[in-house]
Amino acid sequence: MKNKNKNKNKQSCFCYCPECNNELCGTNSFVSDVNGIVTYECSKCEVVSQFNFNVAPVPILIERRDYK
Ligand SMILES: [Zn+2]
Repeated sequence: MKNKNKNKNKQSCFCYCPECNNELCGTNSFVSDVNGIVTYECSKCEVVSQFNFNVAPVPILIERRDYK
């Protein structure tokens, strides 16, 4: 079976901005996904946060940065 580049549109994606609690997955905040470490930049307050998606069931916030 070839499941190459299968679209990862998981419905169970719940990431919230550590600063303003903005929902990050559906708000154009996605920056990058490197080996399951997903970076978001909040579309509201611009705080950058990283989540580890390798440790299911819930993405873990591993870093928060403010670089303005
Ligand atoms: Zn925010």
